[in-house]
Amino acid sequence: MEKVLSVIPLGGVEEIGLNMTVMEYGDDMIVIDAGLMFPEEDMLGVDFVIPDFTYILENRNKLKGIILTHGHEDHTGALPFLLKEINVPVYGTPLTLGLVKEKLLEHNLEHVELISVMPREIIELGVFSIEPIRVTHSIVDGVGFGIKTPVGLVVHTGDFKLDPTPVDGRLMDFHKFSEYGEKGTTLLLSDSTNAERGGYTFSEKEVRRAFEDIFSTAKGRIIIATFASNIHRIQQAIDVAIMFGRKVILSGKSVISNTQIALDLGYLRIPQNTWLKLEDLKNLKDEEVVIITTGSQGEPMSVLSRIAIGEHKTIKIKEGDIVILSAKMIPGNENSIGRIINHLFRRGADVIYEKVSEIHVSGHASKEELKLMLNLVKPKNFMPIHGEYRHKVYHSRLAEKTGIPKSNIFILDNGDVLEITDDTARRNGKVISGRIYVDGKGVGDVEDMVLRDRRRLAHDGIVLILLVIEKLTGNIVSGPDIISRGFVFEDVSQEIINDVKELVSNTMKELDSELISDKSIVQAKIRSVLKKYLRNTMDRKPMILPIIYEV
Ligand SMILES: [Zn+2]
Ligand SMILES: [Zn+2]
Repeated sequence: MEKVLSVIPLGGVEEIGLNMTVMEYGDDMIVIDAGLMFPEEDMLGVDFVIPDFTYILENRNKLKGIILTHGHEDHTGALPFLLKEINVPVYGTPLTLGLVKEKLLEHNLEHVELISVMPREIIELGVFSIEPIRVTHSIVDGVGFGIKTPVGLVVHTGDFKLDPTPVDGRLMDFHKFSEYGEKGTTLLLSDSTNAERGGYTFSEKEVRRAFEDIFSTAKGRIIIATFASNIHRIQQAIDVAIMFGRKVILSGKSVISNTQIALDLGYLRIPQNTWLKLEDLKNLKDEEVVIITTGSQGEPMSVLSRIAIGEHKTIKIKEGDIVILSAKMIPGNENSIGRIINHLFRRGADVIYEKVSEIHVSGHASKEELKLMLNLVKPKNFMPIHGEYRHKVYHSRLAEKTGIPKSNIFILDNGDVLEITDDTARRNGKVISGRIYVDGKGVGDVEDMVLRDRRRLAHDGIVLILLVIEKLTGNIVSGPDIISRGFVFEDVSQEIINDVKELVSNTMKELDSELISDKSIVQAKIRSVLKKYLRNTMDRKPMILPIIYEV
């Protein structure tokens, strides 16, 4: 029988997010990463999205293990959902597993076997021999993989950039990548996120310079919002805070737990008496304070959103505060982020964000770095991953420039199968793939983790709340009207329908005029109020979509 290796991306090659790749040979299968994606603005009522992994479930007997490149949620966020269905060991570097462990505990998955590996330490899974290779990225402890298979070597870069001065001093393992080039690699899968961008991506250290500029003239408090997993960024904020005699307060569950994990594992350095509690805020002078938090994407329920709309219990914005959004504005989130920035300015803060200062650098390689990777690994075949279609096209052009013939470049969609034999590579067939919508993250209640798949929708249905409000005053002009599908209000008493209408009206009355002008906040409020009500009274969790028209 001919020896055939199948490489199947189940997510991550049509979007930034949902990263998940299957490799299969005979009766052996491994999965690289299992990521989520945050919803686009039109996906109302959805907290996040995960790849459809039916194909893995159908071949569950073959699955030998899951290997993780790094701890970002676009690579690990779907793990709890996959591991609820299949119990297999998960391999990753210490920090990656530290972050994953926390997530698994939230889902009552403490029984899952987590196997910690260091770069260059070989993992044997069936016919596959897997070597983690250190890369630099916007999270510490990231790796790519060199994978020995019966039909040759495969290299998967994971997410990377070539940072010559990483914050933690751990350099990318160029030597290993070139070793795979020397040995002869049949397939390279490489990060396409920044394939449109010329030149080189700046080192993370550049952010420090921007922080120093801001800190050197700041008179009041400084609030920094970033991704909770960006340990490098948190370290730099802490280092600069110390330099300017400030104390650091962390606010938000994820940023506190990630920082604690990184500190425990030795990936963060925080001198004693630097990290204070939120309660200590009142004892500090404004010029002694740095607050690090999340919400850089304008997520309606995040700490920063609550601060911005004046709903945070302890942190009230005042004149002189500086808020730094130290993260990329992820496309699709611009409107939400813009709203947060407006609210913050309105309350008197100065806001510094990507468009006005260099307070963020990307974690992904630009054109010159991508070419360098292609030249180091010198693959026979190439598959661009981690990107939308246009990113893959740009990356393919770079690959052609380095001498890979067009016929050996494979731009796959999610679910496409790339078959590799000793001397051929070809696209052959498609497996089930798609997106599954998940609702309930951040409620802090595991019972609320509801898979928004079709089965669930059919069971719990969908409720639309239609409201017409007057733009200036926020007064309800018409509605609330309630439409449901698969969730039969007719079955229940008129009383419940009246209750729902009243709850919506009351929620609207309680919002002040500033908040009422912000549709995303109104929607989030109505959703959370109704969700609680329907769960308590009827034990149902329909998808709730408030639709608001302004006149
Ligand atoms: Zn990443
Ligand atoms: Zn990623």
